[in-house]
Amino acid sequence: MSGSATDRRLFRKRTVRDVDPGGKRVLVRVDFNVPLDRDGERVSVADDGRIRAALPTIEHLRDREARLVLVSHLGRPKDRERELSMAPVSARLGELIGAEVRQAPAVVGPDVEQAAAALAPGDVLVLENSRFEPGETKNDPQLSDALSRLADLYVDDAFGAVHRVHATTVGVAERLPAVAGFLLEREVTMLSGLLEDPGHPFVVVLGGAKVSDKIGVIERFLEIADAILIGGAMCFSFFRAQGLPTGDSLVEEEGVEPARRALERAQRSSCELELPVDLVVADRVAADAEWRQLDGVEVPDGWMGLDIGPRTARAYAERISQAGTVFWNGPMGVFELAPFQEGTRGVAAAVAAVDGLSVVGGGDSAAAVRQLGLDEAAYGHISTGGGASLEYLEGRELPGLAVLAD
Ligand code: ADP
Ligand code: MG
Repeated sequence: MSGSATDRRLFRKRTVRDVDPGGKRVLVRVDFNVPLDRDGERVSVADDGRIRAALPTIEHLRDREARLVLVSHLGRPKDRERELSMAPVSARLGELIGAEVRQAPAVVGPDVEQAAAALAPGDVLVLENSRFEPGETKNDPQLSDALSRLADLYVDDAFGAVHRVHATTVGVAERLPAVAGFLLEREVTMLSGLLEDPGHPFVVVLGGAKVSDKIGVIERFLEIADAILIGGAMCFSFFRAQGLPTGDSLVEEEGVEPARRALERAQRSSCELELPVDLVVADRVAADAEWRQLDGVEVPDGWMGLDIGPRTARAYAERISQAGTVFWNGPMGVFELAPFQEGTRGVAAAVAAVDGLSVVGGGDSAAAVRQLGLDEAAYGHISTGGGASLEYLEGRELPGLAVLAD
């Protein structure tokens, strides 16, 4: 299988392997932006996939007697709301590593500096939600300075945030020796495996809510893939571009023109762009909605398409089963609700069965794999980053990666 550990050469940045973190205070940017469960006052981590993904780097550094300061954002806080505190995340991390994890009272400041200074080798301190600081998303120099005072070395293991120019991804990395963690290395290596020498047929499956998020990758893949299979609400921008009725389906208007252009390009490309041939339609988005299979794709008024139909799911699964390489991003339907999850299940199962390299990108797609009870180990790689993986595949520079030492 390509993209394995032997392809580390593809990764041109220094990593935690190249430094001696012993005794040093190491600031690790992690992506602990996890879904939460709320039960009255009690908040807990609903899906710890992203926390587990960072464990190899955390364990490596603890084994080498580093003093760890972890930082992540969580959700989109407006005003330091308690519900978006990192405390439940720290608690879950403590369970996973079987050691005490300290929760800092803030992101920066004298109390945090004291807590960081008090760390013994192997200790772990988690800073508060980085977006509690308004300077985070502005890459504010003062915040970056304050963060850099907490550590001697910076490790970026937050693949999901490398496409952002923030204080915790770029600013602080400019102020400290900065290297990549194992997760960041693995993500980039696996994704570059898709671009550098994919096995053919190279099949790309795209779904989810919006075309505009994904039009860049569609254009890129029209040049390097053999087939692009479209599902999710995204297909309705394409149907609209073809002049077909979409009923009450979710149609992203700004996506219609890009979809029309992609259809045009596809005609000149050797890559096939495939759209659904049937749908599951319902009268509303609800688990108890009235729903039926539509043999065709012209959605009548009063109905909305919420999943690809069974014929489409079979055709897509067949295409995927012959693939040498497959990249899947975005659910085929509203998989969160039972009546509309069969399309996503069919695609997810077919991707899992592929012999060649299979890569899954996108937070909701990864959540679908887990929610549908599929074996995560059957996939070559499940990316922890949605936007970041798409930007990388489009060929854009990732600022949080570019800033690390070569
Ligand atoms: P990812 O996070 O994997 O990149 P997106 O965020 O692009 O995926 O899209 C996921 C969302 O798209 C899911 O919440 C799903 O319910 C929604 N979705 C998929 N198909 C449809 C549809 N036909 N109508 C409305 N929403 C849809
Ligand atoms: Mg998403």
